[in-house]
Amino acid sequence: MTDARKQISPALGDMANEDFRRFGHELIDWVADYLERVEDLPVLSQIEPGELKGQLPTTPPEKGEPMSEVIADVDRLVVPALTHWNHPSFFAYFATSTSAPGIFGELLSAAFDNKAMLWRTSPASTELEEVTLDWLRQMMGLDGGMSGIIYDTASVSSLHAIAAAREGVEQRIREEGMSGRTDLPLLRVYISEHAHSSIEKAVITLGLGQRGLRKIPVDSEFRMDVRALEAAIEEDKAHGFLPFCIVATVGTTSTSSIDPVADMVPIGEKHMMWLHVDAAYAGSAAVVPELRHILKGCERADSLVVNPHKWLFTPFDLSVLYCRHLDLLRRAFSLVPEYLRTPEQEKVRSGSDYGVQLGRRFRALKLWMVIRYFGHEGLAARIREHCRLAQLFGSWVEANSDWELMAPLPLALVCFRACPRNVAANDLDQLNEEIMHRVNATGKALLSHTKLNDKLTLRLSVGNIRTTEKHVTQVWDLLNEELKSLM
Ligand code: PLP
Repeated sequence: MTDARKQISPALGDMANEDFRRFGHELIDWVADYLERVEDLPVLSQIEPGELKGQLPTTPPEKGEPMSEVIADVDRLVVPALTHWNHPSFFAYFATSTSAPGIFGELLSAAFDNKAMLWRTSPASTELEEVTLDWLRQMMGLDGGMSGIIYDTASVSSLHAIAAAREGVEQRIREEGMSGRTDLPLLRVYISEHAHSSIEKAVITLGLGQRGLRKIPVDSEFRMDVRALEAAIEEDKAHGFLPFCIVATVGTTSTSSIDPVADMVPIGEKHMMWLHVDAAYAGSAAVVPELRHILKGCERADSLVVNPHKWLFTPFDLSVLYCRHLDLLRRAFSLVPEYLRTPEQEKVRSGSDYGVQLGRRFRALKLWMVIRYFGHEGLAARIREHCRLAQLFGSWVEANSDWELMAPLPLALVCFRACPRNVAANDLDQLNEEIMHRVNATGKALLSHTKLNDKLTLRLSVGNIRTTEKHVTQVWDLLNEELKSLM
């Protein structure tokens, strides 16, 4: 180690520029090496709970430490404690990954460190966000009446959509609140039984209570039963409740099923309800021209969330809420104290008017860089390939009598399980759980599970930018080896 590498932080001010430059180059090399070798690392972290904590000092360093030692500890301590979402055989949850242009976007955003609360505190973030989200809207074929705004996660995007919907019921909730009121009917939100838990959390957070949420059954393909939705709304109205919001899901978490949005639109319109679409996962697939049909009906929705951090190769976090009524979102959240008043405020958009947060990260930069680098065609090609790989895996499952598909496969998520004839139906849950744990323990691939019709179901999600046919073949072989060893 050279003397310079032992350099600790100066008494005042930031790291010397020459050190920043050298460590910066080293770290970019480090990241390039990491992405090159990530396939050789175990996908699932192999550490035991508490193992990392046990290796870290419990008190902060009194004096600064050499950067080289900090970086060495990233290798020694942090990397083994990582589950590698960038591993091409990460097939769990919804498989997602970052990309080189996205990493560069994050790097620059950290360097600029803008807090985009007002237009003037970051004109670049504010205006790049508007332009980039309009590009994405066009790529997805969404209606021109939708304007986008970036939040961190879909959970937060949906929370804001439901808050705007609540503002639209004209019950003076912003001013009077909801507690202690006898003049307020029970407000209700409707979701399918397969909707993501983030909607229930949003309802809880907004003070609507779990009673304010009604879960509608699904059909045999896990899509909301529209007739049951209509009946539930009519019944609630007859009880004097106030149905005000329907949340459709395009790409449910368990199976990627797609609610029949086009059939839900007239119900929402008839009852003057807000229709929010949770397309956090599947919305990105609409950039593939032949898959645009998944958003059928969404042109008449009031809002829609899509997560570029899920399937558009943009590093976590970046979620987009498209909304037709930004005025209501603004009415729900804008509060401008004197110290934030600016002369241009009537002419420009200020991010803090549209949500809980004041300061906002410059997230648009990474998405802008991803879209520019890959282009619409490049992004569509990658998502199209993921769908092909998942369909290929699905065809292997279908062709093998030891395995079965558990749900339709509209995009790139396969729901399946082992069902060898010599195993009793009652033992299949245990068998499949054991297969999954054994595959995951190899460190060579990572799968997750769900329950469908009370049956334990394995999920294989293809969404990683590095995943190729080789990786899908490998995990199929692994699954079959584990099944054989358990027979
Ligand atoms: N909605 C759906 C359909 C999801 O699958 C998920 C996560 O997987 C979410 C919402 C929550 O996403 P986030 O982590 O961005 O809040």
